[in-house]
Amino acid sequence: MIDLTDVAKLYPRGEVALRPVSVEFHPGELVWLSGRSGVGKSTLLGIAALLVVESSGTVRIDGVPVLPSDEGTRSRLRRELFGVVPQSPRLFSELSPVRNVMLAAATLTADDADAALAEVGLDGHAARPVKTMSGGEQQRVSIARALAKRPRVLFADEPTSALDDANASAVRRILRAAVDRGCAVVVASHDPRIGDHADRRIDLEVA
Ligand code: ADP
Ligand code: MG
Repeated sequence: MIDLTDVAKLYPRGEVALRPVSVEFHPGELVWLSGRSGVGKSTLLGIAALLVVESSGTVRIDGVPVLPSDEGTRSRLRRELFGVVPQSPRLFSELSPVRNVMLAAATLTADDADAALAEVGLDGHAARPVKTMSGGEQQRVSIARALAKRPRVLFADEPTSALDDANASAVRRILRAAVDRGCAVVVASHDPRIGDHADRRIDLEVA
């Protein structure tokens, strides 16, 4: 459903953030963007999520080109189709997990938030301020936040980089469950604990 053709990113002072690459992302598939630090994983994820504007190439969603200048369409597509798990959780530390998840979209109810938190195994934690939770729990709140609006595509940037093995396994199971519900899941990571369980790998060092 997302189709990137020869997308590349150059910054104004000449930094090459991403060399031209063509990839597609489909429902029901977990794709691993791999490669060493600085190769452009986050940049490619950002371009596909319509958060970063490509310098060249074309992004199509359901076959329709999305123009770099059309911020109205881009923000609507981001809102309607995508959930993004940023590299560091951006949560409101004084607020509860439910409040944090509800803030992901204006239309979300407390029941929606509870359901998303249950999906990540945090049913019992609803009322605590997020700042009292462990790093692994906060990462799961961040994933629940991205999943709550039932996105067609879930993007996660280095979702396990700060996690121990038990929490990394939990994240891997949550992402797989999203795939099983028909989500397209795109993970940028140098962590084989996630990558070894992907359906497809795109190695940006050789792509
Ligand atoms: P990765 O996620 O694989 O570590 P990134 O996509 O974050 O790589 O970055 C790829 C390259 O682009 C890096 O060399 C980085 O320094 C550069 N880069 C990323 N964002 C910017 C920016 N806003 N301005 C200039 N260079 C950038
Ligand atoms: Mg990165």
